[in-house]
Amino acid sequence: MKPVDFAYARPMDVTAALSLLAEAGPSAKVIAGSQSLGPMLNLRLVQPGLVIDITHIAELRLVEERPDGISIGACITHADIEDGRVPDVAAGALRDVAHGIAYRAVRNRGTIGGSLTHADPSADWITMLAALGASVTLRGAAGLRTIPVEDYMLGALEADLRPGELLVSVTVPRLGRAARWGYYKLCRKTGEFAHAIGACVVDPERGVCRAVIGATEARPIVVADARHLIGDGTQEQFDGPAVDELARASGMEDAIVRQTHVVALRRAVAGAAHR
Ligand SMILES: Cc1cc2nc3c(=O)[nH]c(=O)nc-3n(C[C@H](O)[C@H](O)[C@H](O)COP(=O)(O)OP(=O)(O)OC[C@H]3O[C@@H](n4cnc5c(N)ncnc54)[C@H](O)[C@@H]3O)c2cc1C
Repeated sequence: MKPVDFAYARPMDVTAALSLLAEAGPSAKVIAGSQSLGPMLNLRLVQPGLVIDITHIAELRLVEERPDGISIGACITHADIEDGRVPDVAAGALRDVAHGIAYRAVRNRGTIGGSLTHADPSADWITMLAALGASVTLRGAAGLRTIPVEDYMLGALEADLRPGELLVSVTVPRLGRAARWGYYKLCRKTGEFAHAIGACVVDPERGVCRAVIGATEARPIVVADARHLIGDGTQEQFDGPAVDELARASGMEDAIVRQTHVVALRRAVAGAAHR
């Protein structure tokens, strides 16, 4: 199928993009890498009157490294991160996760902001960035607001993006020198979306011990203090039954589905312990 006819605009700065969004209202749709929106347009799942292409906005491709972390513009692609054009303040976690997303052709165009806003529960960034304690900054007519990545995803394919807002950047805290992280994505073959994802970050200098169960059918399950589940990250300490119980309490009723998530998190923790 082909998309419906739509008007196309390519603003060169965020202010112009926000004006276009405000003028066009709900009939406007922002496009970044088009890796998710493109197929949805072709299938006519979305039928916008105006498509606003934000990929030529320099501000959205800015990367700013600071002592405590990094701010990554929404239009930075997975490939930019995979190739090291973005300093990896997370001890290699950003590059590793970017490399595991889909195929190179998708990574060349798909953006970090598009991935988070599309809010596919099986996507990689939402889970790893939640484990890292990252946040997103949104800009609209009312100004800027910053929220944790995990709160940005409200549910499957639903982000906390208010009418007229753009996601402008993602901020990732810098890991301490003794930090360990693990990420494990269970999928049938490379390039496919995950059936289960486990992620963890243990950073003693900052008192951080986070675990995330991702690729659920909704937002990821984030355990902000996961010491009781994964120990201190210096050895393989993992309480499988407690993780299973957590998944069950979060609404995962199928025992086999729960087991795939337990295994994914166990492998992430084992990866962190050996890093
Ligand atoms: C074959 C294939 C395999 C894939 N496999 C994986 C995988 O294994 N793991 C994974 O994580 N992803 C995977 N993806 C998805 C890919 O990572 C996309 O990059 C991502 O889903 C969307 O990013 P995008 O830049 O293409 O956004 P687009 O498709 O352009 O937009 C997606 C949505 O976000 C909105 N949007 C985009 N940017 C902004 C912004 N800055 N502010 C506000 N709204 C915005 C759009 O309006 C739209 O609703 C795959 C995609 C394909 C086609």
